[in-house]
Amino acid sequence: MPKELKLYNTLTRKKEVFKPISEDIVKMYSCGPTVYSEAHIGNMRAAVFADVLRRTIKMAGYNLKSVMNITDVGHLTDDADAGDDKMEVGAKREQKSVWDIAKKYTDKYFEDTDKLNIIRPDIICKATDYIQQQIEYIKKLEENGFTYKTSDGIYFDTSKLDDYGKLAKLDIEGLSAGIRVDDSLNEKKNKTDFALWKFSPKNEKRQMEWDSPWGVGFPGWHIECSVMSMTHLGFPFDIHTGGVDHIPVHHTNEIAQNEAYCCHCDDKQSVNYWLHNNHLQLVDGKMSKSLGNVITVSTIEEKGIYPLALRYLYLLSHYRAEMKFSWDILKNAEKAYLRLEEKIYLLQKSLSKPQKVKGKRFQKKNHLSPIGQDIKKKIENALLDDMATPVAIVLLRDAIDNKELPDNDKVYIAKFADSVLGLRLVENRRQKFNKKKSDNEIPQEIIDLMEKRKEAKLAKDFAVADAIRNEIRDSGYEITDNPDGTYSLKKI
Ligand code: AMP
Ligand code: ZN
Repeated sequence: MPKELKLYNTLTRKKEVFKPISEDIVKMYSCGPTVYSEAHIGNMRAAVFADVLRRTIKMAGYNLKSVMNITDVGHLTDDADAGDDKMEVGAKREQKSVWDIAKKYTDKYFEDTDKLNIIRPDIICKATDYIQQQIEYIKKLEENGFTYKTSDGIYFDTSKLDDYGKLAKLDIEGLSAGIRVDDSLNEKKNKTDFALWKFSPKNEKRQMEWDSPWGVGFPGWHIECSVMSMTHLGFPFDIHTGGVDHIPVHHTNEIAQNEAYCCHCDDKQSVNYWLHNNHLQLVDGKMSKSLGNVITVSTIEEKGIYPLALRYLYLLSHYRAEMKFSWDILKNAEKAYLRLEEKIYLLQKSLSKPQKVKGKRFQKKNHLSPIGQDIKKKIENALLDDMATPVAIVLLRDAIDNKELPDNDKVYIAKFADSVLGLRLVENRRQKFNKKKSDNEIPQEIIDLMEKRKEAKLAKDFAVADAIRNEIRDSGYEITDNPDGTYSLKKI
């Protein structure tokens, strides 16, 4: 029997007890990246949020089917159907084909999500593999009477739905009053109408374009998510995620399309829970390509900071809270993360040695003491309460420092919390840290250990010196003493 899970639903603006459509499996869709350039640390916050949600659903005792799309066509530089396709912009910028750009940045995206210990969704699907399905979907919208044609493409008529904009609680009257008629989109009947299919510009051959019953062109951005979520999960499904920027346009339009598609169905609601992560902002202003201050996982590694410290920093804020980023904030988070990791590592190490307690061999326990059970329950409750990761981290840190709590319990609790936090707190150190970007750089912890070993050797405490050598080896480095009294260090 799964545990009670509470989630904040943007649709109702309330924290609700989660009730899946089927007891057997929870179905979840996440809006993924637009692969025209490297994902920044804001995008990565969205990815970590979806990962923590997937882990929480599993921790609650559900089976899960998760899907994420890759946007490789149709996302324009202006959300309101104007501007260029971001993919074509990327291709021009780098003098590559659109397909090469899509591949390059899809690969980079997963390289980065791997570094943040994000477990990949079960199904990853890209928009260009679903063109025919998108055409069929638009045909159905046409049949149901929700579309019209302009010189620029096939548009969705939002006035045909009584409650268009309910997700964002849009003021439709206010928006319509502000309608402008002097732009190229003036054939739109309502300001909120959006493109389902865009025609290729006249006299221009796009790299990505397809035949359709309406003319050569490419699908709008919103239709891909409606189509891929329906294809893999069916309507209705349980959970849809994305960043808060998707609420007023992208997700509002997905809902409109889905309801128009299902207008003759018994159940018109296509998704029961809409969850959104808030944005990451830089302390000193906006992050943008034009300002040259876009921060990525690679930028973080170039500064010698562990990517998992970024994950730790994300989790110190609740996913619905705005989050501020500066290098100092990240460096402090890294210190706190490494301190916590070190404590857990030392606990594990001491537990792996045979120990004697009052003449008897120490028994490894697989069950928690009453105080351990109480702490574990509190961490579990925090995570089941709309993923209160900051609370879970404080509880975990307190548990590790708690003098009343047996060491066995500490490691058990760390493992449990980490199944959701995903900070790789209880793992082989060598695997965890050998991903550091600058391969030649010796981590500070190794330098500190070498100093300690030097002191031990000077004091002729060879047992301690050997133990430190083993610890250095556990961290992925081999130390060799040279005949002249110096030593060399190499990565294993
Ligand atoms: P995109 O690649 O622009 O399609 O965005 C990928 C995901 O990142 C979407 O879910 C966005 O809502 C989310 N996102 C974009 N910018 C930020 C930000 N600054 N902070 C958090 N999430 C963001
Ligand atoms: Zn989407």
